[in-house]
Amino acid sequence: MPADITAKLAELDAFIEAEIKPLERENIQYFDHRREWARTDWENDGRMNLKWRAVVAEMERRADKAGHLRLGLPKSCGGQGASNLMIAVVREHLAAKGLGLHNDLQDENSVVGNYPIAPMLADYGTPEQKTYIDGIITGEKNLAFALTEPAHGSDATWMDTSAVRDGDHWVINGMKCWNGRVRRAHGNLVFARTSGKAGDAKGITAFIVPTSTPGHNILFNHWTFNMPADHSQVEFKNVRVPHSAILHQEGEGLVVAQRFVHENRIRQAAASAGAARYCITEAAKYAKSRIAFGEPLSKKQAIQFPLAELYADSEMVRNYIFRTAWEMDRRDPLEISDMVSICNFRANRLVCEAADRAMQIHGGVGYSRHMPFEHIYRHHRRYRITEGTEEVQIRRVSQYLFGFSGKTANTTAFSAA
Ligand SMILES: Cc1cc2nc3c(=O)[nH]c(=O)nc-3n(C[C@H](O)[C@H](O)[C@H](O)COP(=O)(O)OP(=O)(O)OC[C@H]3O[C@@H](n4cnc5c(N)ncnc54)[C@H](O)[C@@H]3O)c2cc1C
Repeated sequence: MPADITAKLAELDAFIEAEIKPLERENIQYFDHRREWARTDWENDGRMNLKWRAVVAEMERRADKAGHLRLGLPKSCGGQGASNLMIAVVREHLAAKGLGLHNDLQDENSVVGNYPIAPMLADYGTPEQKTYIDGIITGEKNLAFALTEPAHGSDATWMDTSAVRDGDHWVINGMKCWNGRVRRAHGNLVFARTSGKAGDAKGITAFIVPTSTPGHNILFNHWTFNMPADHSQVEFKNVRVPHSAILHQEGEGLVVAQRFVHENRIRQAAASAGAARYCITEAAKYAKSRIAFGEPLSKKQAIQFPLAELYADSEMVRNYIFRTAWEMDRRDPLEISDMVSICNFRANRLVCEAADRAMQIHGGVGYSRHMPFEHIYRHHRRYRITEGTEEVQIRRVSQYLFGFSGKTANTTAFSAA
């Protein structure tokens, strides 16, 4: 591991102890067994409680002041342009510390910020559109992401939402669902078909639509396995936006969407690998201290073997993630989508198995909210669905393995060190 990365981890640990842990202790109801109840505004459609949001915002403010929040952002976004390897290692490390304000799972807020839309805006945005970058980081001008529809998720290129040109304007009609954070967003990045036919990769256009535009109607919130939730169903009824609302180019919206998921898939995988490592370590620790039938649980092979197997998987997945991130720093990341997908589906599956095993080894208390495993399970279970489902990731690996669309598997192709 390069020395600058290990030094960064030590720096982050010291910062978290000094600045974030005291804030967490002052607001412990958001982290102990009451967490889901305390965070959720149940009477307001299950949204995040404003006081909880303020605690998260204070964590981010402190992290920004200390120079950590923008570590992973490109220099053009005021960031430090950290490598994919650095960010993967940081994400894994923060998740392996367990639940806490330093790296909150629910809304993916962390002392090292996770802003997949920002690099997209930096690459494709006009100066006006780039004003969203700082807005997203400070929370003052958020941009939501609207790709999925009630009838089309994995097959997004079959979307029904359309935009039709009318002079200097476009008129958008359709319906989106799971539109994350849209209720607190100033703008919504909406993908709509502008040409071509269902299933075509070309002909989808990305529009930045101010959420105050007439016809942009938020209908309801989807309540989820882990609450609070901020994922809405949104109707677009004759929504009129100027031509300048297009992000990147007309018909090239899929490139923008791919940039988003690519950025997120490897980071999500690293977070899952870290959380899996945490669950395995905690379960092993508990098994050594819990006495059953007159001796520690850790003496039983039925306890040892599943955990040892998870540990072996965790070490392999973790190292494969780091290697893939290292490759991403040396090649066009889009060329090694198969490797990124392998990281994603294996790590997301692993953390669910590790959290489940940790609950089992802890017995009754493992099932309780006094332990962190149920929360880890609830959160990470979502990753098997969200950045392209597990099946979509495996489908991507198959494309490379079987050579569909001229692709070749990358797993044996090392670039020069
Ligand atoms: C908490 C949460 C947050 C989200 N946030 C956002 C957001 O901010 N913006 C946004 O646009 N979307 C968001 N989504 C939506 C998410 O991206 C979709 O749920 C996901 O892409 C899957 O689409 P779907 O739900 O329509 O499932 P479907 O596409 O209907 O799939 C159903 C099942 O069929 C499987 N399947 C589909 N096609 C194939 C195939 N070819 N081969 C094998 N199996 C297949 C899938 O893997 C899945 O298991 C979010 C979802 C959740 C749960």
